[in-house]
Amino acid sequence: MNTIVERFEKIQSNITSLKLNKPVNIIAVSKTFDLDYIKPLVEHGHIHFGENKVQEATAKWTEIRKSNQNLRLHMIGKLQSNKAKDAVKLFDYIHSLDNQKLADALSKHQTSLKKNLKYFIQVNLANESQKSGISVGELETFYNYCINEINLKIIGLMVIPPIDQSAEKYFKSLCELNKSLALKEMSMGMSADYVEAIKHGSTFVRVGSSIFGSRS
Ligand SMILES: *Cc1c(COP(=O)(O)O)cnc(C)c1O
Repeated sequence: MNTIVERFEKIQSNITSLKLNKPVNIIAVSKTFDLDYIKPLVEHGHIHFGENKVQEATAKWTEIRKSNQNLRLHMIGKLQSNKAKDAVKLFDYIHSLDNQKLADALSKHQTSLKKNLKYFIQVNLANESQKSGISVGELETFYNYCINEINLKIIGLMVIPPIDQSAEKYFKSLCELNKSLALKEMSMGMSADYVEAIKHGSTFVRVGSSIFGSRS
């Protein structure tokens, strides 16, 4: 069997062995890798794939989507509002919603393109100045704006914990915030910490290098 498929199945069985009572979606993060390299996992029947650049993702996925209509594409990287239209055209989920200008652009384009994407609001829990994500203080107002004023389907919150710290406390905080907004889904956990994230309630893990190998 293909190595990528084998690695993927190992992750799947690690998750199954946690004996959870709700399903966890594995987003195979395929950024930087060519489609030919990723394809065995598509042919294996996996549907959730993650990318962090609109242009790269559009070039990679537009054609294969047409013949694989069950594919679900996730935008997990920073999104500029001038790329919102192209993002709406391609993606099914956006995990990096974090400001009103972007939200307005996404709402406008999905209305005119007759699409209805699912969104995670990215939260900057550690207040890292260089990192995307809305601050905890602004979250509730922003969430209410998105659902009440511009009709975005917000399904949960997303976090990327600081790289130099244990992720656990951030997973816990995100879980609490998610509950306070009565949201059902959570996007947290990567190759190094997806098991931990799932134990704290994550329903969408974003796993790249453990499936595809290290990125150059
Ligand atoms: C690249 C990326 C991942 C995947 O990271 P790995 O450590 O390779 O699993 C997950 N989330 C985001 C936001 C990313 O940019």
